[in-house]
Amino acid sequence: MVETSAAHRWVVAIDGPAAAGKSTVAQLLADRLGALLFDTGSLYRALALAVLRAEIDPADECRLAELAAELDIAVVPPTVRDGRLATVHLDGEDVTWEIRAPAVDAVVSPVSAHPAVRAALLPHQRRIASGLPVVIVGRDIGSVVVPDAGVKIFLEASPEERARRRFAELRERGVEVDFDAVLADLRRRDAIDTGRAASPLRAAADALVLNTDRLTVPEVVDRIEERARAIWTPTEAVVRGETQ
Ligand code: C5P
Repeated sequence: MVETSAAHRWVVAIDGPAAAGKSTVAQLLADRLGALLFDTGSLYRALALAVLRAEIDPADECRLAELAAELDIAVVPPTVRDGRLATVHLDGEDVTWEIRAPAVDAVVSPVSAHPAVRAALLPHQRRIASGLPVVIVGRDIGSVVVPDAGVKIFLEASPEERARRRFAELRERGVEVDFDAVLADLRRRDAIDTGRAASPLRAAADALVLNTDRLTVPEVVDRIEERARAIWTPTEAVVRGETQ
């Protein structure tokens, strides 16, 4: 067993840029480990949707933070079998697919860049991290949200490869998109996510960085699972029993 003093040893943090394969990998990993899956992008997306609906200026940090504090956003296991990895409720309404629309893609990064918005959504994320084994996906999980997570992974892939994946995913859902527009949107979001002052997208110093350009999904999952199992081996009770 790998020794770790991490208080959040049961947390696997998976960070990385948009469409690096985080959600797919995290879902398979969570299934294999019998862990919960929590995609924090859903929180920021649900807030971005609420911002669009309320016609609030995405630059109005104060109003956005107020809205973030007022809203009831719940990310729960899938309630419908339609390919979703989780169900997202915004004030009780199922917005699972609506938060994946290009209109939300367009505003979610500027909305997420505000420090007050990030602070408002932090307690929700930390609450989930303090319970049972969980795989948490985001941009700053290993660096800010759960810096003492047992396993920290940073998934990378080239912008072109990520755009190919996102393009295929949107087309499969019947969303009409242009490849160049998808690539441009990913590059724009990358620039905002990495360039922002508050919790920028970056690999934690102790994260395992995996480039998924030339790795299959099962290969990526295998590597992370190996790390998690090395830490998660439930030996504490056994060891205590042996030594008493
Ligand atoms: O991962 P996903 O593409 O759904 O995330 C949407 C956006 O939410 C990201 O581009 C980023 O701007 C923001 N985000 C964030 N921090 C997180 C998760 C998502 O800033 N932990």
